[in-house]
Amino acid sequence: MTLNDGISRQPGARADAGGVLRRQRARESSARTYARSFPIVPVKASGMTVEGADGRRYLDCLSGAGTLALGHNHPVVLEAIRRTVDGGAPLHVLDLATPEKDEFVETLFATLPDGLRDRARVHFCGPAGTDAVEAALKLMQTATGRHGLIAFTGAYHGMTAGALAAGGNVTVKAPVPGIAADVTRLPYPYAYRCPFGVGGERGAELAATYAERLLDDPAGGVVPPAAMIVEVVQGEGGAVPAPDGWLREMRRVTAEREIPLIVDEVQTGVGRTGAFWAVEHSGIVPDAIVMSKAIGGGLPLAVIVYRDDYDGWLPGAHTGTFRGNTLAMAAGTATLRHVVREGLAARAAAVGARVMSRLDGLRTELPAIGDVRGRGLMIGVELVDPDAAPDSCGARPPAPRTAAEVRAACLDRGLIVELGGRYDATVRLLPPLTITDEEAEAVLDRLADAIAEVTSARFAGRPA
Ligand code: PMP
Repeated sequence: MTLNDGISRQPGARADAGGVLRRQRARESSARTYARSFPIVPVKASGMTVEGADGRRYLDCLSGAGTLALGHNHPVVLEAIRRTVDGGAPLHVLDLATPEKDEFVETLFATLPDGLRDRARVHFCGPAGTDAVEAALKLMQTATGRHGLIAFTGAYHGMTAGALAAGGNVTVKAPVPGIAADVTRLPYPYAYRCPFGVGGERGAELAATYAERLLDDPAGGVVPPAAMIVEVVQGEGGAVPAPDGWLREMRRVTAEREIPLIVDEVQTGVGRTGAFWAVEHSGIVPDAIVMSKAIGGGLPLAVIVYRDDYDGWLPGAHTGTFRGNTLAMAAGTATLRHVVREGLAARAAAVGARVMSRLDGLRTELPAIGDVRGRGLMIGVELVDPDAAPDSCGARPPAPRTAAEVRAACLDRGLIVELGGRYDATVRLLPPLTITDEEAEAVLDRLADAIAEVTSARFAGRPA
């Protein structure tokens, strides 16, 4: 018996999809995620299209959870990787200085918002977004000498201890002892399911007022925190965009109280929301930005960028083996440059607005669409039970079973979409910024068709 007995295959030969899936199910952790919802075995990918081992092709609206700004295997990314490999560069260098890193930092800094660009420091972290979140928290704890953190309902920042504490998902936090002891939770302005039951601009105003008054209340229970961490558009939280005015208020409130503001742009960065960095919409200048996903061009890379006056931590304060991935730096540089050169942030804004308006127009015909929201190409379609009574904001109860069936019906139609938000009732669209008009039409057609099929069966007298 050889080590890979039964599973070796010649290069180019089709994988046995059934066998691969069966072995994965038998051997991999029950905590695996996407692999449960998408029983496909990707073997080829280009742009927005993924091909499975069974020869079926899918339009990918998940894009590695928002990582693939240029889609799969974009020529500029492949060229950068090939050039780096062919040039014989060391692929692993801890955090040593390399020409690839130098170019990456130069390119990244040129994209930074005014007010941060000229005073920025960058720290390379372990290659996941969650490690960069940990680094940002530690940086601000060191700088302020405080411990606590302010974070928001619906937030997602990652799965390591500090990031998990900052997140909102109760189910994943519940089994972890002591998690979030030092976190103050504030309401995120989610217009459709307003925490104050009023919705719209008024809900966001109340959220800002509540935040400010709580922090100033000597009996409010909040010890001065080390930082506030926020997403401009909540991604895993269901593509919930914060109003610009609310974010400006958070900036004012934190600045006046000398609370560092960390903006988590792991998912919103690199053009995704219609601006290169999502903070540009409101014009705020955060004290630190957390970056990962798209900055590595599809390869693992994570950094924090922060104002130089916070740079008081000691050598080794946040270290890690995988902070110098040469290929990721090269792929990242190529990606950042391409997004800027081709004006892909503006393209994301235009296509995203069209897609959202088309989806909004489907609400009469498809009453299970409760809410359509997002910014740029970070779009959420919240599915609800259309037969149930609406709440004070007009929102009907979420329909998680419908959403799961829509995801499966999309897959049947050759479309990969993931769910998110409360109860996983929101269909999320995260296509690459390079999506063509024809691809956008195909996504809309397949999604609308899937919702129509699922809901015509489901709401014919059956519960959601
Ligand atoms: N922050 C945000 C806003 C995210 O969306 C994610 C990942 N979805 C993370 C942090 C964590 O990144 P990673 O999965 O690479 O640890």
